[in-house]
Amino acid sequence: MLRGLNMDRQLLISSLIDYAGRNHGATSVVSRGSDDETIRTNWSEVEQRSRQLAGALVAADVGVGDRVGTIGWNDHRHLEAYYGITGIGAVLHTINPRLSDDQIVYIVNHAADTIVFVDPDFAEMAARIAPRCPTVSQWIGFDEHYESFIAGAEALDGWPALDEWSAATLCFTSGTTGNPKGVVQSHRSIVLQTWATCTGDGHNVNSGESILLAVPMFHVNGWAIPFAAAMAGAKLVLPGPDLSPETMVGWINTEDITFSAGVPTIWLGVVQHLQRAGADVPTLRRIAVGGSAAPRSLMDTLEDEYGVFVSHVWGMTEMTQGSAGRFTHRVERLERDEQRKRQAMAGRELYGVELRIVDDEGNLVPRDGRTPGELLARGPWVAGSYFELETPDSHTPDGWLRTGDVATMDGEGYLTIVDRAKDVIKSGGEWISSIDLENAAVGCDGVLEAAVIGLPHDRWGERPLLCCVVEDGRAVEIQQILDHVASEVPKWWLPNDIVFIDEIPHTGTGKIDKKLLRQRFADHGWPEATS
Ligand code: AMP
Repeated sequence: MLRGLNMDRQLLISSLIDYAGRNHGATSVVSRGSDDETIRTNWSEVEQRSRQLAGALVAADVGVGDRVGTIGWNDHRHLEAYYGITGIGAVLHTINPRLSDDQIVYIVNHAADTIVFVDPDFAEMAARIAPRCPTVSQWIGFDEHYESFIAGAEALDGWPALDEWSAATLCFTSGTTGNPKGVVQSHRSIVLQTWATCTGDGHNVNSGESILLAVPMFHVNGWAIPFAAAMAGAKLVLPGPDLSPETMVGWINTEDITFSAGVPTIWLGVVQHLQRAGADVPTLRRIAVGGSAAPRSLMDTLEDEYGVFVSHVWGMTEMTQGSAGRFTHRVERLERDEQRKRQAMAGRELYGVELRIVDDEGNLVPRDGRTPGELLARGPWVAGSYFELETPDSHTPDGWLRTGDVATMDGEGYLTIVDRAKDVIKSGGEWISSIDLENAAVGCDGVLEAAVIGLPHDRWGERPLLCCVVEDGRAVEIQQILDHVASEVPKWWLPNDIVFIDEIPHTGTGKIDKKLLRQRFADHGWPEATS
C-alpha cells in the first residue's frame, strides 16, 4: 500500500475550541443561567476559561479516560465543561437532570464519575444522591463553587496530543425500557459528526449564524451544536432553563437569531405564542426539528406565516444526527405541496450514516415509500457497542445498529419513521402508525397536541386511543377530530376513542411519555360501538 503523505494530525475536540478562540474570538456567546443573569462572553473567553477548567481538573487528579459528570442547563459554564473536560482526555458525561434519583444514581455509578458539576437548581437532588454515589469525590456547583475551582488553577498551556480514538463523551439513552445504555463517542467521531452537522445538508452551521440552542446540552450533546458552533465560529446563545415560548421569541428578536434547533413541542409552543401575541421572528431563517416526528401543520405555519424553513431531522443518542431535511435541487423546483410532503418525512441519509430498512428475516425492503421494516444504521459515529454492557440484540450479525424504529424509505431516499417498534399499534395483524395519527390530529383546528397509544382490544388485538390537548377556551368535538383525521389516514386507522386531557406527559428529552399514558389509560374501556 502506498500511504498518503499527509501530516498526522489527530481529530480532537480541542481543535474546535482552539479554532474558535483564534479566529472568532470576539464572536459572542450569550448565556443565561438558573440565576437568571445574562452573561455576555465570547469564544476567546470560553477558550481561556476552558483551559482554566482543564488546569483545575488536572490539579484535581482527573486523568485520561476518567469520567466527569455534568448536571446542567445550557449555559456558558456547561459549554466550558464540554471543552475543558474533553480537552484533557477525560470523558464528559452529561446527565439528564429530569431522570429519577434512582436512574441518576444508576448512571453515575455505572459511569464511575469522579467529579460531577451540578447546577444550583439540582443541588438538593445532588445532596440526596451523593451518599449513594461512592465514586464521586467532589460535587461542584455550577456557580461560585465552579468559579473558585477554576480560579485557583493555572490555565492549561496548550491541549494535550491525544489519540483521536480516546473516549470524549458519554451519553445515556433515555431508557424507556430497561436500564439506560451508555453511548461513548470518541474525539474522532465527534469531530466527524460535527463536520457533517456543519455541512449545507446538515444544519448548515456557519460563521454567519446566530444560533439559539434549544436542545438541552444533556440530550445527545445538544445534537453536537455546541461543537458545531465552535467549528463554524458562529454566535451562540445558551438560554438556560427557561425555554418558554415568550423567552424563546425574546431571544430570537434581541440576539438576531438566524438558526435554532429543538424538539417539536418547543416549536409548537413558539408558534402558538407568535399567533396569540401577533409577534414575528424576522431574523429566524431556519430551524432543525427532530427527536420526535414534527407534524406537517407546524412546518406549514412556520414557513407560510413566519418565513422559517424547517429541516426535519432524525437521529438518536447512538449517533446524534442521522438524517437531514434540506431540499435537493429537484425538490426545490417542485410544487409547494409536494415539497411539504417530503418535509414532513424524516429527511434523507446524511453522509456518514448509512441507513437501510429490513424485514423480519433481515432482507432489504423495497425503497417504495410504503413497505415498513426495521431501520438499521452504520457509520463512523454510530455506536458499535455500549459502555460496559453486553447487548446481544442491539446490532445485526453483520454489524448494523438496530435502531428500534420502524420506517419506510422512498425511491429518493426520504425516510418516514412509522413508529418506535414498541409504539406501533398492531390491529388485526396490520400496523397503525401512532405518529401519523398524532400528526393528523394536530392538524385539526383547536387541537394543540396529540398522543396515540395502542390499548388491548378483544377483536383486533390492539386499537388506537387518541389523547388530545385542546387550546384554552376552545370546545372541539370528538366528531370534528375524527372527520379531520379521516381525511388523512385510512379509515380502519381511526381511533376507537378520543379523550381530552390537560397535558401530554413528556420525558426528560421532550418525547411523549407513552409509558405513562399507557398506565393512565390501562383500564380504559372502549365505547360500545367500537368494542
Ligand atoms: P434519543 O436517543 O433520545 O434521541 O431518541 C431517539 C429516538 O427518537 C429515535 O429512535 C426515534 O424513535 C425518535 N426520533 C428522533 N427523531 C425523530 C423524527 N424526526 N421523527 C420521528 N421520531 C424521531
